[in-house]
Amino acid sequence: MTSAAKFLLLTAVFGLLAACRKEPQTNQGHSISGSTMGTYFRVTLSEFPNGIPEDTLQTTLQARLDRIDDLMSTYKPDSEVSLFNRSDSTDWFPVSTETATVVIAALEVFEASNGAFDITVGPLVELWGFGSQESTNQLPAPAEIQELLATLGSHQLHARLDPPALKKDHAELRIDLSAIAKGYAVDSLAASLEELGIPDYLVDIGGEMRAGGQKADHTPWKIAIETPTAKQRGIQATLPLHDMAIATSGDYRNYFERDGQRYSHEIDPRTGQPIRHSLVSVSILDTSCMQADAWATALIVLGPEEGRALAEQAELPAFLIIREGSDFRQIETSAFIPHLP
Ligand code: ADP
Ligand code: MG
Repeated sequence: MTSAAKFLLLTAVFGLLAACRKEPQTNQGHSISGSTMGTYFRVTLSEFPNGIPEDTLQTTLQARLDRIDDLMSTYKPDSEVSLFNRSDSTDWFPVSTETATVVIAALEVFEASNGAFDITVGPLVELWGFGSQESTNQLPAPAEIQELLATLGSHQLHARLDPPALKKDHAELRIDLSAIAKGYAVDSLAASLEELGIPDYLVDIGGEMRAGGQKADHTPWKIAIETPTAKQRGIQATLPLHDMAIATSGDYRNYFERDGQRYSHEIDPRTGQPIRHSLVSVSILDTSCMQADAWATALIVLGPEEGRALAEQAELPAFLIIREGSDFRQIETSAFIPHLP
């Protein structure tokens, strides 16, 4: 099944909404859009570049995204990541520079987040019904969870760039780049645009965004952080974004409910359980969207106290939304304050 078809299926099964976060209407410009990685992408340009036909630009950007998806998708059986996952070898496994770059970044965030961000968590994601397998909405047995937990962990995974390769300590270890690849793809599109001599852009892939330069009216690009409700769309905050990326993770879009309990698609690798706490949305600002994407997932896994404390300690600009009954409270870390309008 294609990731787009899978996404539609998930939409039907879990009732999630298609787009994560909308650009405020103030970001007018020329836009190029399409689909990738089971979601949408949209690139907004202040000015259409001279000498580059629109369909050439569309093809160039789509090809860039297709390549990343072909390398890193766990939905594609022949992607580099799927081949590594199926490989029985515990020797160095040659991969592209792109895949090695993303895995190295993922291992760094694994270390820095005390294991909360862990790309070997895929088998648990599948067990809870969120992976590329058909979901049954059945809750896994505690013994099954414990058994899997004992085999997982990014400490058993290694990556290098020269030459680019990955290595696992045991043949069954598998990786899932879903929580970091979109951010990498955003950075990659931004780099493509800059190589083409286009300095003013807003790139958005499924709600992970990066802005370069400014809008046609010489004001900064603006983005909105949504109020974390699955059904209604509201805006919690609006921010100017200047040569910066933002990524958001939340439990409010991709989840299933059983017996009145909500199960999120973010798994705490320390317990093997989907996250279940009052921290419902985390947005991270960073010059790298890949970093922002991974850290947003790391903090949502860590939860309101630990997540906030680590963000403060690491001086991460983070915007947290905490559920309090039927209300939401927002918390900005010290490093986020200077970015508020
Ligand atoms: P979204 O895809 O909604 O932007 P995330 O960036 O947080 O959300 O990625 C969630 C996906 O990451 C899950 O669907 C799963 O495949 C994977 N995942 C779940 N838990 C973790 C974790 N603790 N560390 C890394 N990846 C995870
Ligand atoms: Mg993420």
